[in-house]
Amino acid sequence: MADVTLKNLVKEYRDDKRSTFRAVKGINLDIRNREFMVLVGPSGCGKSTSLRMIAGLENVTDGAITIDEQVINEVQPKDRNIAMVFQNYALYPHMTIFENMAFGLKLLKYPKNEIKKRVNDAADILGLTSMLNRKPKQLSGGQRQRVAVGRAIVRKPKVFLFDEPLSNLDAKMRVQMRTEISKLHARLNATMIYVTHDQVEAMTMGDRICVMKDGNIMQVAEPLELYNNPKNMFTAGFIGSPPMNFFHGKVNTVNGKLAFIENNNKKAPFSILFDDRLSRLARAHQNQNIVLGIRPEDIADALTLTREDNSCCMSAEVEVSEPMGSETYLYLNTGSHNFIARVHSEHRFKFGQNLKVAFNLSKAHLFDPTTEDVIS
Ligand code: ATP
Repeated sequence: MADVTLKNLVKEYRDDKRSTFRAVKGINLDIRNREFMVLVGPSGCGKSTSLRMIAGLENVTDGAITIDEQVINEVQPKDRNIAMVFQNYALYPHMTIFENMAFGLKLLKYPKNEIKKRVNDAADILGLTSMLNRKPKQLSGGQRQRVAVGRAIVRKPKVFLFDEPLSNLDAKMRVQMRTEISKLHARLNATMIYVTHDQVEAMTMGDRICVMKDGNIMQVAEPLELYNNPKNMFTAGFIGSPPMNFFHGKVNTVNGKLAFIENNNKKAPFSILFDDRLSRLARAHQNQNIVLGIRPEDIADALTLTREDNSCCMSAEVEVSEPMGSETYLYLNTGSHNFIARVHSEHRFKFGQNLKVAFNLSKAHLFDPTTEDVIS
């Protein structure tokens, strides 16, 4: 297995009119031996382009890709010892499952009994043994995706690449395949690079996650580190569902203490007194604009609060209440700000109901609205 390194990696596409578009803008990333690295970001952020450069399906405009310290920019895709699993499975419809899985090895002129052994072993791992004589159209979407994974496994590559492999599956099958791919990673102990736009997949599968936006890397970290300590507003808003709430305002002094004063509502702005930690962070930003970020689960409704936590309560109106089972998503409005809270489902909430809510300030984040970086 292998370390994969991207050094100042750039990809420019040229259109017919000879103008260039920079899809990947000089990214640096070290993917460790046996790591499950997820590249995640919204459509068009450059994650597939990065993966395709590693696979050798796109030329590198500038920078270098190394595998185990060997630069592979000019190495042919077939000689990179990499296997890629695509979103659309890319199976040959006229071949059986066995033939589909054996195809790559046949091209590489492996002996027949070695091919048979590898295909049977992979089929066993993936629960496909009884289906080896079927054609792809006789399989479900999930089973076809497993064949596509099997075709990668039989090659025993140094690195596995996955390009949104689960997006064609229904929600239930996606969850099942997600676990299967994670188990496979544990079993094969392989370096895997996985591209998705789905932050839940990223959080549940990745050893580390690389968040991308507009051809740049915004943050690379372990899932919980990303969730708890986002470095910028983009990562904070992208990771987590429902997303983090952002309140735009100013740092000001109220009764001698530092506070957040919202700036949307000129007539009756709400203010939140900072606790010691936030005061320390906000001190250098007095009278300046600031963004307060708070996750929906760090907002509680007053009904579930004990008296002591009631200190930073504010009023909001319930616009929508979505019961999810054990918890309810409340879409709230302060008159000037919309935000979402995740609260226990033990109470019922009605449209238009006025509610007191409190922010758990020990979990709040402050951001600079100009750079969008976290204030730390
Ligand atoms: P998605 O999740 O939609 O696949 P992505 O993050 O994987 O998005 P890429 O496919 O890497 O994004 O594309 C990055 C940018 O490069 C996009 O703006 C896309 O339009 C552009 N792009 C991709 N392929 C080409 C191409 N062959 N020619 C020109 N532009 C391209």
